[in-house]
Amino acid sequence: MFMETSMTVNINEELGTQEVVWNLSDLYSAYDDQQIEEDIAFCQNEAAAINGEYMDRVKSLDADGIRQLVTRLEDLETRLGKLFTFAFLNFATNTADQEVSAFLQRMREIGSSIGKDTVFFELEWNKVDQEKADALLGSAALSHYQHYLENMRKYAPHQLSQIEERLLLECAPVGRGSWATLFEKVMGNLKFGEKKRTEEEVLSDLYNPEREVRKQAARELTEGLQSQLHILTHVFNTLLADKMITDRLRKYPGWIRSMNLGNELEDNTVEVLINAVTDRYDIPQRYYLIKKKMLGLDELLDYDRYAPVPHLPGRKIAWSAGKTVVLDAFAKFSGRMAEIAEYFFDRKWIHAPVLEGKRGGAFAHPCVPEVHPYVLVNYTGNLRDVSTVAHELGHGVHQYLAAEQGYYNSNTTLVLSETASVFAELLVFNSQLELLDRKEERNAFICQKLESIFATVFRQISMNRFEDKVHTARREQGELKTEDISTMWLQTQRAMFGDSVTLSENYGTWWSYIPHFLHSPGYVYSYAFGELLVLALYALYKKEGDSFVPKYIDLLAAGGTRTPYKLLEPFGVDPDNPAFWNDGLRIIDDMLQLIE
Ligand SMILES: [Zn+2]
Repeated sequence: MFMETSMTVNINEELGTQEVVWNLSDLYSAYDDQQIEEDIAFCQNEAAAINGEYMDRVKSLDADGIRQLVTRLEDLETRLGKLFTFAFLNFATNTADQEVSAFLQRMREIGSSIGKDTVFFELEWNKVDQEKADALLGSAALSHYQHYLENMRKYAPHQLSQIEERLLLECAPVGRGSWATLFEKVMGNLKFGEKKRTEEEVLSDLYNPEREVRKQAARELTEGLQSQLHILTHVFNTLLADKMITDRLRKYPGWIRSMNLGNELEDNTVEVLINAVTDRYDIPQRYYLIKKKMLGLDELLDYDRYAPVPHLPGRKIAWSAGKTVVLDAFAKFSGRMAEIAEYFFDRKWIHAPVLEGKRGGAFAHPCVPEVHPYVLVNYTGNLRDVSTVAHELGHGVHQYLAAEQGYYNSNTTLVLSETASVFAELLVFNSQLELLDRKEERNAFICQKLESIFATVFRQISMNRFEDKVHTARREQGELKTEDISTMWLQTQRAMFGDSVTLSENYGTWWSYIPHFLHSPGYVYSYAFGELLVLALYALYKKEGDSFVPKYIDLLAAGGTRTPYKLLEPFGVDPDNPAFWNDGLRIIDDMLQLIE
Protein backbone atom coordinates (compact mmCIF):
# COMPACT_ATOMS: atom_id res chain seq x y z
CA MET A 1 0.00 0.00 0.00
CA PHE A 2 1.81 3.14 1.20
CA MET A 3 5.53 3.36 0.58
CA GLU A 4 6.36 5.49 3.55
CA THR A 5 9.72 7.19 3.74
CA SER A 6 11.39 7.14 7.14
CA MET A 7 10.87 10.90 7.23
CA THR A 8 7.06 10.73 7.06
CA VAL A 9 6.89 7.80 9.51
CA ASN A 10 8.79 9.90 12.04
CA ILE A 11 6.55 12.94 11.65
CA ASN A 12 3.39 10.88 12.03
CA GLU A 13 4.69 8.93 15.01
CA GLU A 14 5.89 12.08 16.76
CA LEU A 15 2.52 13.82 16.32
CA GLY A 16 0.31 10.79 16.89
CA THR A 17 -1.44 10.82 13.53
CA GLN A 18 -0.62 7.29 12.28
CA GLU A 19 -4.02 6.03 13.33
CA VAL A 20 -5.93 9.13 12.27
CA VAL A 21 -7.09 7.74 8.95
CA TRP A 22 -10.64 7.89 7.66
CA ASN A 23 -12.98 4.97 7.58
CA LEU A 24 -14.51 4.82 4.12
CA SER A 25 -16.66 1.80 4.93
CA ASP A 26 -19.49 4.25 5.67
CA LEU A 27 -19.56 4.44 1.88
CA TYR A 28 -18.50 0.94 0.77
CA SER A 29 -16.60 -1.80 2.56
CA ALA A 30 -14.05 -2.26 -0.25
CA TYR A 31 -13.66 -2.18 -4.03
CA ASP A 32 -15.22 -5.65 -4.26
CA ASP A 33 -18.24 -4.60 -2.18
CA GLN A 34 -21.26 -6.06 -4.03
CA GLN A 35 -23.11 -2.81 -3.31
CA ILE A 36 -20.83 -0.89 -5.69
CA GLU A 37 -21.90 -2.89 -8.74
CA GLU A 38 -25.52 -2.76 -7.58
CA ASP A 39 -25.39 1.02 -7.22
CA ILE A 40 -23.75 1.42 -10.61
CA ALA A 41 -26.44 -0.76 -12.19
CA PHE A 42 -29.16 1.21 -10.40
CA CYS A 43 -27.77 4.52 -11.68
CA GLN A 44 -27.46 3.28 -15.26
CA ASN A 45 -30.92 1.72 -15.34
CA GLU A 46 -32.60 4.63 -13.59
CA ALA A 47 -30.97 7.14 -15.95
CA ALA A 48 -32.20 5.19 -18.96
CA ALA A 49 -35.68 4.85 -17.42
CA ILE A 50 -35.92 8.58 -16.66
CA ASN A 51 -34.76 9.36 -20.17
CA GLY A 52 -37.36 7.05 -21.69
CA GLU A 53 -40.21 8.39 -19.59
CA TYR A 54 -39.52 12.12 -19.59
CA MET A 55 -37.39 13.22 -22.52
CA ASP A 56 -39.18 15.82 -24.70
CA ARG A 57 -42.01 15.98 -22.16
CA VAL A 58 -40.75 18.51 -19.60
CA LYS A 59 -42.70 21.46 -21.02
CA SER A 60 -45.98 19.54 -20.69
CA LEU A 61 -45.46 18.55 -17.00
CA ASP A 62 -47.41 20.16 -14.18
CA ALA A 63 -45.87 21.04 -10.81
CA ASP A 64 -46.36 17.54 -9.37
CA GLY A 65 -44.85 15.98 -12.46
CA ILE A 66 -41.77 18.22 -12.23
CA ARG A 67 -41.42 17.44 -8.55
CA GLN A 68 -41.49 13.69 -9.20
CA LEU A 69 -38.92 14.00 -11.93
CA VAL A 70 -36.57 16.23 -9.90
CA THR A 71 -36.85 13.91 -6.90
CA ARG A 72 -35.86 10.93 -9.04
CA LEU A 73 -32.96 12.85 -10.54
CA GLU A 74 -31.82 13.88 -7.07
CA ASP A 75 -31.92 10.28 -5.82
CA LEU A 76 -29.98 9.16 -8.85
CA GLU A 77 -27.33 11.86 -8.45
CA THR A 78 -27.03 11.14 -4.75
CA ARG A 79 -26.24 7.49 -5.46
CA LEU A 80 -23.77 8.56 -8.11
CA GLY A 81 -22.26 11.08 -5.70
CA LYS A 82 -21.68 8.30 -3.20
CA LEU A 83 -19.80 6.23 -5.77
CA PHE A 84 -17.77 9.26 -6.86
CA THR A 85 -16.88 10.19 -3.31
CA PHE A 86 -15.58 6.68 -2.65
CA ALA A 87 -13.48 6.78 -5.82
CA PHE A 88 -12.18 10.29 -5.16
CA LEU A 89 -11.30 9.84 -1.48
CA ASN A 90 -9.42 6.63 -2.20
CA PHE A 91 -7.51 8.41 -4.93
CA ALA A 92 -6.69 11.35 -2.63
CA THR A 93 -4.59 9.12 -0.38
CA ASN A 94 -3.28 6.79 -3.14
CA THR A 95 -2.52 8.97 -6.16
CA ALA A 96 0.16 6.56 -7.40
CA ASP A 97 -1.99 3.41 -7.25
CA GLN A 98 -3.10 2.47 -10.75
CA GLU A 99 -6.07 0.41 -9.65
CA VAL A 100 -7.40 3.30 -7.57
CA SER A 101 -6.85 5.67 -10.45
CA ALA A 102 -8.59 3.29 -12.87
CA PHE A 103 -11.66 3.12 -10.62
CA LEU A 104 -11.89 6.92 -10.51
CA GLN A 105 -11.68 7.02 -14.30
CA ARG A 106 -14.33 4.28 -14.56
CA MET A 107 -16.64 6.40 -12.40
CA ARG A 108 -15.97 9.42 -14.60
CA GLU A 109 -17.00 7.45 -17.67
CA ILE A 110 -20.13 6.09 -16.00
CA GLY A 111 -20.99 9.59 -14.75
CA SER A 112 -20.55 10.99 -18.21
CA SER A 113 -22.80 8.38 -19.80
CA ILE A 114 -25.48 8.94 -17.15
CA GLY A 115 -25.16 12.69 -17.68
CA LYS A 116 -25.93 12.18 -21.34
CA ASP A 117 -29.19 10.46 -20.44
CA THR A 118 -30.32 13.09 -17.95
CA VAL A 119 -29.01 16.34 -19.42
CA PHE A 120 -32.31 16.81 -21.25
CA PHE A 121 -34.00 17.99 -18.05
CA GLU A 122 -31.92 21.13 -17.58
CA LEU A 123 -32.10 21.95 -21.28
CA GLU A 124 -35.87 21.50 -21.50
CA TRP A 125 -36.55 23.19 -18.16
CA ASN A 126 -34.65 26.23 -19.31
CA LYS A 127 -36.79 26.38 -22.46
CA VAL A 128 -40.07 26.51 -20.53
CA ASP A 129 -41.38 30.03 -21.11
CA GLN A 130 -40.94 32.49 -18.28
CA GLU A 131 -44.61 32.93 -17.43
CA LYS A 132 -45.24 29.23 -17.03
CA ALA A 133 -41.97 28.76 -15.15
CA ASP A 134 -42.96 31.53 -12.70
CA ALA A 135 -46.29 29.86 -12.05
CA LEU A 136 -44.61 26.50 -11.45
CA LEU A 137 -41.95 28.01 -9.19
CA GLY A 138 -44.66 29.69 -7.13
CA SER A 139 -46.52 26.42 -6.53
CA ALA A 140 -46.48 24.66 -3.18
CA ALA A 141 -45.48 21.36 -4.80
CA LEU A 142 -42.16 22.83 -5.91
CA SER A 143 -41.37 25.03 -2.91
CA HIS A 144 -38.57 22.69 -1.78
CA TYR A 145 -36.78 22.99 -5.12
CA GLN A 146 -37.69 26.60 -5.87
CA HIS A 147 -34.23 28.14 -5.54
CA TYR A 148 -32.56 25.17 -7.22
CA LEU A 149 -34.84 25.36 -10.26
CA GLU A 150 -34.74 29.13 -10.45
CA ASN A 151 -30.96 29.15 -10.26
CA MET A 152 -30.71 26.56 -13.03
CA ARG A 153 -32.50 28.91 -15.39
CA LYS A 154 -29.70 31.44 -15.01
CA TYR A 155 -27.64 29.16 -17.22
CA ALA A 156 -30.24 29.25 -19.99
CA PRO A 157 -28.45 31.90 -22.09
CA HIS A 158 -25.27 29.79 -21.94
CA GLN A 159 -26.73 26.50 -23.00
CA LEU A 160 -26.08 24.72 -26.26
CA SER A 161 -28.34 22.42 -28.19
CA GLN A 162 -29.08 19.01 -26.78
CA ILE A 163 -26.85 17.27 -29.32
CA GLU A 164 -23.96 19.60 -28.51
CA GLU A 165 -24.41 19.21 -24.77
CA ARG A 166 -24.42 15.44 -25.12
CA LEU A 167 -21.29 15.53 -27.24
CA LEU A 168 -19.47 17.67 -24.68
CA LEU A 169 -20.47 15.28 -21.92
CA GLU A 170 -19.25 12.35 -23.97
CA CYS A 171 -15.83 14.00 -24.28
CA ALA A 172 -15.69 15.23 -20.66
CA PRO A 173 -13.79 12.22 -19.21
CA VAL A 174 -10.77 13.06 -21.35
CA GLY A 175 -11.16 16.80 -20.78
CA ARG A 176 -10.58 19.16 -17.85
CA GLY A 177 -10.80 16.58 -15.08
CA SER A 178 -8.30 14.31 -16.74
CA TRP A 179 -5.75 17.13 -17.14
CA ALA A 180 -6.21 18.08 -13.51
CA THR A 181 -5.61 14.43 -12.58
CA LEU A 182 -2.38 14.45 -14.59
CA PHE A 183 -1.30 17.50 -12.60
CA GLU A 184 -2.10 15.68 -9.32
CA LYS A 185 -0.13 12.66 -10.48
CA VAL A 186 2.90 14.72 -11.49
CA MET A 187 2.91 16.63 -8.21
CA GLY A 188 2.11 13.56 -6.10
CA ASN A 189 5.06 11.65 -7.56
CA LEU A 190 7.52 14.53 -7.65
CA LYS A 191 10.42 14.27 -5.20
CA PHE A 192 12.26 17.36 -4.06
CA GLY A 193 15.94 17.71 -3.21
CA GLU A 194 18.52 15.12 -2.25
CA LYS A 195 16.31 13.68 0.47
CA LYS A 196 13.60 13.09 -2.12
CA ARG A 197 10.92 14.74 -0.03
CA THR A 198 7.27 15.42 -0.86
CA GLU A 199 5.96 18.85 -1.90
CA GLU A 200 4.25 19.17 1.47
CA GLU A 201 7.48 18.60 3.40
CA VAL A 202 9.44 21.10 1.35
CA LEU A 203 6.73 23.77 1.60
CA SER A 204 6.69 23.23 5.36
CA ASP A 205 10.39 24.20 5.47
CA LEU A 206 9.52 27.69 4.22
CA TYR A 207 8.19 28.27 7.74
CA ASN A 208 11.49 27.23 9.35
CA PRO A 209 13.28 29.79 11.58
CA GLU A 210 16.66 29.01 9.95
CA ARG A 211 17.21 31.16 6.89
CA GLU A 212 19.47 28.51 5.30
CA VAL A 213 16.74 25.88 5.63
CA ARG A 214 14.21 28.18 3.96
CA LYS A 215 16.65 29.10 1.23
CA GLN A 216 17.37 25.42 0.61
CA ALA A 217 13.62 24.61 0.52
CA ALA A 218 13.03 27.41 -1.98
CA ARG A 219 15.86 26.11 -4.15
CA GLU A 220 14.55 22.53 -3.96
CA LEU A 221 11.00 23.62 -4.76
CA THR A 222 12.19 25.71 -7.71
CA GLU A 223 14.37 22.87 -9.05
CA GLY A 224 11.63 20.29 -8.60
CA LEU A 225 9.09 22.47 -10.40
CA GLN A 226 11.58 23.29 -13.13
CA SER A 227 12.15 19.58 -13.82
CA GLN A 228 8.44 19.25 -14.64
CA LEU A 229 7.81 22.68 -16.10
CA HIS A 230 7.40 21.40 -19.66
CA ILE A 231 4.44 19.29 -18.45
CA LEU A 232 3.03 21.85 -16.01
CA THR A 233 3.09 24.60 -18.67
CA HIS A 234 1.39 22.33 -21.15
CA VAL A 235 -1.35 21.38 -18.66
CA PHE A 236 -1.86 25.04 -17.75
CA ASN A 237 -2.00 26.14 -21.39
CA THR A 238 -4.43 23.36 -22.28
CA LEU A 239 -6.77 24.33 -19.47
CA LEU A 240 -6.54 28.02 -20.35
CA ALA A 241 -7.54 27.10 -23.90
CA ASP A 242 -10.28 24.77 -22.66
CA LYS A 243 -11.74 27.65 -20.66
CA MET A 244 -11.46 30.02 -23.60
CA ILE A 245 -13.25 27.60 -25.94
CA THR A 246 -15.95 26.75 -23.41
CA ASP A 247 -16.59 30.43 -22.66
CA ARG A 248 -16.84 31.19 -26.38
CA LEU A 249 -19.23 28.32 -27.07
CA ARG A 250 -21.38 29.23 -24.08
CA LYS A 251 -21.29 32.97 -24.79
CA TYR A 252 -19.78 34.08 -21.50
CA PRO A 253 -18.66 37.69 -21.94
CA GLY A 254 -15.45 37.29 -19.87
CA TRP A 255 -13.32 34.62 -18.23
CA ILE A 256 -14.66 35.30 -14.70
CA ARG A 257 -18.37 35.40 -15.57
CA SER A 258 -19.07 31.66 -15.26
CA MET A 259 -17.46 31.59 -11.80
CA ASN A 260 -19.54 34.61 -10.71
CA LEU A 261 -22.69 33.00 -12.03
CA GLY A 262 -21.85 29.82 -10.08
CA ASN A 263 -21.29 31.96 -6.98
CA GLU A 264 -24.62 33.69 -7.63
CA LEU A 265 -22.84 37.03 -7.62
CA GLU A 266 -23.12 39.96 -9.99
CA ASP A 267 -19.86 40.91 -11.74
CA ASN A 268 -20.12 44.32 -10.12
CA THR A 269 -20.00 42.87 -6.59
CA VAL A 270 -16.78 41.03 -7.38
CA GLU A 271 -15.24 44.13 -8.95
CA VAL A 272 -16.10 46.20 -5.88
CA LEU A 273 -14.37 43.57 -3.73
CA ILE A 274 -11.24 43.38 -5.93
CA ASN A 275 -10.85 47.15 -6.11
CA ALA A 276 -11.30 47.54 -2.38
CA VAL A 277 -8.52 45.02 -1.72
CA THR A 278 -6.02 46.21 -4.33
CA ASP A 279 -6.53 49.77 -3.03
CA ARG A 280 -5.22 48.54 0.33
CA TYR A 281 -2.01 46.82 -0.80
CA ASP A 282 -0.37 49.28 1.63
CA ILE A 283 -1.41 46.93 4.44
CA PRO A 284 0.78 43.93 3.47
CA GLN A 285 3.55 46.33 2.44
CA ARG A 286 3.57 48.05 5.84
CA TYR A 287 3.52 44.67 7.54
CA TYR A 288 6.48 43.20 5.67
CA LEU A 289 8.58 46.30 6.42
CA ILE A 290 7.95 45.63 10.12
CA LYS A 291 8.69 41.95 9.67
CA LYS A 292 12.01 42.76 8.03
CA LYS A 293 12.97 44.74 11.13
CA MET A 294 11.73 42.04 13.50
CA LEU A 295 13.85 39.46 11.72
CA GLY A 296 16.81 41.84 11.67
CA LEU A 297 17.29 41.49 7.92
CA ASP A 298 18.45 44.14 5.43
CA GLU A 299 16.36 42.64 2.71
CA LEU A 300 13.31 40.40 2.90
CA LEU A 301 13.52 37.77 0.15
CA ASP A 302 10.68 35.63 -1.17
CA TYR A 303 11.71 32.68 0.99
CA ASP A 304 11.65 34.89 4.11
CA ARG A 305 7.96 35.72 3.83
CA TYR A 306 6.84 32.82 6.00
CA ALA A 307 9.74 32.90 8.46
CA PRO A 308 8.33 32.66 11.98
CA VAL A 309 8.49 35.98 13.81
CA PRO A 310 10.58 35.91 17.01
CA HIS A 311 8.91 34.81 20.28
CA LEU A 312 6.38 32.61 18.57
CA PRO A 313 6.02 29.34 20.47
CA GLY A 314 7.84 27.11 17.96
CA ARG A 315 7.16 23.68 19.41
CA LYS A 316 5.31 21.01 17.49
CA ILE A 317 1.70 20.54 18.51
CA ALA A 318 0.63 16.92 18.87
CA TRP A 319 -2.56 15.90 17.08
CA SER A 320 -4.47 15.41 20.35
CA ALA A 321 -3.46 18.87 21.62
CA GLY A 322 -4.50 20.47 18.35
CA LYS A 323 -7.82 18.68 18.55
CA THR A 324 -8.46 20.05 22.06
CA VAL A 325 -7.67 23.61 21.00
CA VAL A 326 -10.08 23.41 18.08
CA LEU A 327 -12.95 21.74 19.94
CA ASP A 328 -12.67 24.07 22.95
CA ALA A 329 -12.78 27.14 20.71
CA PHE A 330 -15.82 25.81 18.86
CA ALA A 331 -17.56 24.94 22.16
CA LYS A 332 -17.12 28.46 23.50
CA PHE A 333 -19.01 29.78 20.48
CA SER A 334 -21.64 27.07 20.10
CA GLY A 335 -22.11 23.68 21.73
CA ARG A 336 -23.77 22.37 18.58
CA MET A 337 -20.77 23.31 16.45
CA ALA A 338 -18.35 21.53 18.82
CA GLU A 339 -20.58 18.48 18.99
CA ILE A 340 -20.61 18.09 15.21
CA ALA A 341 -16.86 18.73 14.92
CA GLU A 342 -16.27 16.00 17.49
CA TYR A 343 -17.95 13.44 15.24
CA PHE A 344 -15.13 13.90 12.75
CA PHE A 345 -12.57 12.79 15.34
CA ASP A 346 -14.60 10.11 17.10
CA ARG A 347 -16.10 8.49 14.02
CA LYS A 348 -13.01 8.49 11.81
CA TRP A 349 -14.08 11.09 9.26
CA ILE A 350 -10.57 12.61 9.09
CA HIS A 351 -7.36 11.59 7.33
CA ALA A 352 -4.38 13.36 8.94
CA PRO A 353 -0.94 11.74 8.43
CA VAL A 354 1.63 12.82 5.83
CA LEU A 355 2.08 9.91 3.42
CA GLU A 356 3.85 9.37 0.16
CA GLY A 357 1.35 9.25 -2.71
CA LYS A 358 -1.20 11.24 -0.70
CA ARG A 359 -2.24 14.51 -2.27
CA GLY A 360 -1.00 17.69 -0.63
CA GLY A 361 -3.03 20.42 1.05
CA ALA A 362 -6.33 19.92 2.77
CA PHE A 363 -10.01 19.71 1.90
CA ALA A 364 -13.44 18.86 3.24
CA HIS A 365 -15.63 16.74 0.98
CA PRO A 366 -19.40 17.04 1.50
CA CYS A 367 -20.00 13.49 0.23
CA VAL A 368 -23.79 12.86 0.18
CA PRO A 369 -26.42 13.79 2.79
CA GLU A 370 -27.19 10.18 3.77
CA VAL A 371 -23.53 9.63 4.73
CA HIS A 372 -21.43 12.53 6.13
CA PRO A 373 -18.59 14.82 5.05
CA TYR A 374 -14.93 13.74 5.15
CA VAL A 375 -11.87 15.89 5.92
CA LEU A 376 -8.31 15.47 4.63
CA VAL A 377 -5.29 17.33 6.03
CA ASN A 378 -1.52 16.79 5.95
CA TYR A 379 -0.76 17.45 9.61
CA THR A 380 2.84 18.49 10.29
CA GLY A 381 2.25 19.94 13.78
CA ASN A 382 2.71 23.67 13.09
CA LEU A 383 0.40 26.30 14.55
CA ARG A 384 -0.88 26.89 11.04
CA ASP A 385 -1.77 23.20 10.77
CA VAL A 386 -4.08 23.65 13.76
CA SER A 387 -5.71 26.52 11.87
CA THR A 388 -6.03 24.28 8.83
CA VAL A 389 -7.78 21.62 10.89
CA ALA A 390 -10.18 24.30 12.19
CA HIS A 391 -10.66 25.59 8.65
CA GLU A 392 -11.59 22.21 7.19
CA LEU A 393 -13.79 21.36 10.18
CA GLY A 394 -15.58 24.68 9.62
CA HIS A 395 -16.38 23.38 6.14
CA GLY A 396 -17.28 20.01 7.61
CA VAL A 397 -19.74 21.44 10.14
CA HIS A 398 -21.28 23.60 7.43
CA GLN A 399 -21.65 20.62 5.08
CA TYR A 400 -23.06 18.47 7.88
CA LEU A 401 -25.71 21.06 8.81
CA ALA A 402 -26.61 21.86 5.20
CA ALA A 403 -27.05 18.15 4.39
CA GLU A 404 -30.49 18.39 5.99
CA GLN A 405 -31.58 20.37 2.92
CA GLY A 406 -31.00 17.37 0.65
CA TYR A 407 -28.40 16.82 -2.07
CA TYR A 408 -29.44 19.59 -4.45
CA ASN A 409 -30.09 22.23 -1.82
CA SER A 410 -27.05 21.54 0.36
CA ASN A 411 -24.62 22.87 -2.19
CA THR A 412 -23.56 26.28 -0.88
CA THR A 413 -22.15 28.80 -3.32
CA LEU A 414 -18.36 28.93 -3.10
CA VAL A 415 -18.20 32.39 -1.53
CA LEU A 416 -20.29 31.34 1.44
CA SER A 417 -18.68 27.93 1.79
CA GLU A 418 -15.41 29.69 2.67
CA THR A 419 -17.24 31.79 5.24
CA ALA A 420 -17.76 28.90 7.65
CA SER A 421 -14.17 27.73 7.36
CA VAL A 422 -12.65 31.15 7.90
CA PHE A 423 -14.99 31.89 10.80
CA ALA A 424 -13.83 28.65 12.44
CA GLU A 425 -10.20 29.72 12.03
CA LEU A 426 -10.95 33.08 13.68
CA LEU A 427 -12.63 31.38 16.65
CA VAL A 428 -9.55 29.22 17.18
CA PHE A 429 -7.25 32.21 16.84
CA ASN A 430 -9.04 34.23 19.51
CA SER A 431 -9.04 31.28 21.90
CA GLN A 432 -5.33 30.76 21.42
CA LEU A 433 -4.67 34.48 21.90
CA GLU A 434 -6.40 34.44 25.28
CA LEU A 435 -4.05 31.68 26.43
CA LEU A 436 -0.98 33.84 25.86
CA ASP A 437 0.12 36.14 28.72
CA ARG A 438 3.42 37.55 27.44
CA LYS A 439 3.17 40.60 25.23
CA GLU A 440 5.89 39.43 22.82
CA GLU A 441 4.11 36.13 22.37
CA ARG A 442 0.80 37.82 21.76
CA ASN A 443 2.38 40.18 19.23
CA ALA A 444 4.07 37.30 17.46
CA PHE A 445 0.78 35.47 17.39
CA ILE A 446 -1.02 38.50 15.94
CA CYS A 447 1.68 38.68 13.27
CA GLN A 448 0.99 35.10 12.39
CA LYS A 449 -2.73 35.75 12.15
CA LEU A 450 -2.11 38.78 9.98
CA GLU A 451 -0.06 36.62 7.65
CA SER A 452 -2.83 34.11 7.47
CA ILE A 453 -5.33 36.88 6.69
CA PHE A 454 -2.97 38.19 3.99
CA ALA A 455 -2.88 34.69 2.53
CA THR A 456 -6.66 34.64 2.21
CA VAL A 457 -7.29 38.28 1.30
CA PHE A 458 -4.34 39.93 -0.44
CA ARG A 459 -2.62 36.83 -1.83
CA GLN A 460 -5.86 35.48 -3.28
CA ILE A 461 -6.76 38.80 -4.88
CA SER A 462 -3.25 39.11 -6.31
CA MET A 463 -3.73 35.58 -7.68
CA ASN A 464 -7.04 36.71 -9.15
CA ARG A 465 -5.12 39.54 -10.88
CA PHE A 466 -2.68 36.89 -12.20
CA GLU A 467 -5.53 34.74 -13.50
CA ASP A 468 -7.06 37.81 -15.11
CA LYS A 469 -3.78 38.46 -16.94
CA VAL A 470 -3.16 34.89 -18.13
CA HIS A 471 -6.72 34.24 -19.28
CA THR A 472 -6.80 37.57 -21.10
CA ALA A 473 -3.37 36.99 -22.64
CA ARG A 474 -4.27 33.46 -23.78
CA ARG A 475 -7.32 34.88 -25.54
CA GLU A 476 -5.41 37.72 -27.18
CA GLN A 477 -2.04 36.10 -27.95
CA GLY A 478 -2.57 32.34 -28.21
CA GLU A 479 -0.52 29.72 -26.36
CA LEU A 480 1.71 31.20 -23.66
CA LYS A 481 5.39 30.51 -23.04
CA THR A 482 6.53 29.51 -19.57
CA GLU A 483 8.43 32.82 -19.33
CA ASP A 484 5.28 34.81 -20.21
CA ILE A 485 3.31 33.12 -17.46
CA SER A 486 6.17 33.61 -15.00
CA THR A 487 6.43 37.31 -15.89
CA MET A 488 2.72 37.81 -15.22
CA TRP A 489 3.08 35.96 -11.93
CA LEU A 490 5.94 38.21 -10.84
CA GLN A 491 4.16 41.40 -11.97
CA THR A 492 1.00 40.68 -10.01
CA GLN A 493 2.89 39.50 -6.92
CA ARG A 494 5.25 42.50 -7.01
CA ALA A 495 2.25 44.84 -7.23
CA MET A 496 1.11 43.47 -3.87
CA PHE A 497 4.50 43.46 -2.09
CA GLY A 498 5.84 46.73 -3.50
CA ASP A 499 9.34 47.34 -2.11
CA SER A 500 8.72 45.36 1.06
CA VAL A 501 9.75 41.94 -0.30
CA THR A 502 12.26 41.13 -3.05
CA LEU A 503 10.89 38.46 -5.35
CA SER A 504 13.67 36.63 -7.20
CA GLU A 505 13.41 35.44 -10.79
CA ASN A 506 13.29 31.86 -9.44
CA TYR A 507 10.07 32.71 -7.68
CA GLY A 508 8.62 33.37 -11.13
CA THR A 509 7.76 29.69 -11.69
CA TRP A 510 5.90 29.24 -8.42
CA TRP A 511 2.53 29.68 -10.10
CA SER A 512 2.98 26.13 -11.36
CA TYR A 513 2.16 24.17 -8.19
CA ILE A 514 -1.08 25.98 -7.29
CA PRO A 515 -3.95 23.58 -8.03
CA HIS A 516 -6.81 26.13 -7.91
CA PHE A 517 -5.86 27.68 -11.24
CA LEU A 518 -6.45 24.31 -12.87
CA HIS A 519 -9.31 22.83 -10.86
CA SER A 520 -11.56 25.87 -10.68
CA PRO A 521 -10.43 28.94 -12.60
CA GLY A 522 -11.57 32.13 -10.92
CA TYR A 523 -12.13 30.45 -7.57
CA VAL A 524 -9.49 32.28 -5.54
CA TYR A 525 -11.41 35.52 -4.89
CA SER A 526 -13.94 33.46 -2.92
CA TYR A 527 -11.39 33.22 -0.10
CA ALA A 528 -11.09 37.00 0.11
CA PHE A 529 -14.86 37.34 0.01
CA GLY A 530 -15.15 34.79 2.82
CA GLU A 531 -12.42 36.30 5.00
CA LEU A 532 -13.58 39.91 4.81
CA LEU A 533 -17.18 38.86 5.32
CA VAL A 534 -16.13 36.84 8.35
CA LEU A 535 -14.21 39.76 9.88
CA ALA A 536 -17.36 41.85 9.56
CA LEU A 537 -19.54 39.04 10.97
CA TYR A 538 -17.15 38.46 13.85
CA ALA A 539 -17.29 42.14 14.77
CA LEU A 540 -21.07 41.74 14.78
CA TYR A 541 -20.80 38.69 17.07
CA LYS A 542 -18.67 40.70 19.52
CA LYS A 543 -21.34 43.39 19.51
CA GLU A 544 -24.45 41.19 19.66
CA GLY A 545 -23.12 38.35 21.82
CA ASP A 546 -25.08 35.11 22.15
CA SER A 547 -28.01 36.35 20.08
CA PHE A 548 -25.72 36.25 17.05
CA VAL A 549 -25.09 32.48 17.33
CA PRO A 550 -28.48 31.09 16.21
CA LYS A 551 -28.48 33.45 13.20
CA TYR A 552 -25.09 32.10 12.26
CA ILE A 553 -26.09 28.44 12.67
CA ASP A 554 -29.20 29.19 10.55
CA LEU A 555 -26.96 30.63 7.86
CA LEU A 556 -24.94 27.39 7.73
CA ALA A 557 -27.99 25.13 7.90
CA ALA A 558 -29.65 27.02 5.03
CA GLY A 559 -27.00 25.59 2.70
CA GLY A 560 -27.68 26.74 -0.86
CA THR A 561 -31.39 27.38 -0.51
CA ARG A 562 -31.06 31.13 -1.15
CA THR A 563 -28.71 33.56 -2.93
CA PRO A 564 -25.78 35.01 -0.94
CA TYR A 565 -27.51 38.39 -0.97
CA LYS A 566 -30.62 36.89 0.65
CA LEU A 567 -28.66 34.69 3.08
CA LEU A 568 -26.78 37.72 4.37
CA GLU A 569 -29.84 39.94 4.74
CA PRO A 570 -30.52 38.95 8.39
CA PHE A 571 -27.07 40.35 9.24
CA GLY A 572 -27.67 43.67 7.50
CA VAL A 573 -24.79 43.13 5.05
CA ASP A 574 -24.61 44.73 1.56
CA PRO A 575 -21.72 43.34 -0.54
CA ASP A 576 -22.28 45.91 -3.31
CA ASN A 577 -21.27 48.73 -1.03
CA PRO A 578 -17.49 49.43 -0.97
CA ALA A 579 -17.93 50.63 2.61
CA PHE A 580 -18.74 47.08 3.67
CA TRP A 581 -15.43 45.71 2.34
CA ASN A 582 -13.54 48.72 3.67
CA ASP A 583 -14.93 47.93 7.13
CA GLY A 584 -13.45 44.44 6.93
CA LEU A 585 -10.13 45.84 5.67
CA ARG A 586 -10.09 48.40 8.48
CA ILE A 587 -10.22 45.57 11.03
CA ILE A 588 -7.01 44.21 9.47
CA ASP A 589 -5.49 47.68 9.56
CA ASP A 590 -6.39 47.96 13.26
CA MET A 591 -4.67 44.63 13.97
CA LEU A 592 -1.61 45.87 12.10
CA GLN A 593 -1.56 49.09 14.14
CA LEU A 594 -1.41 47.01 17.31
CA ILE A 595 2.07 45.89 16.34
CA GLU A 596 3.13 49.08 14.55
ZN1 LIG B 1 -11.60 26.16 2.39
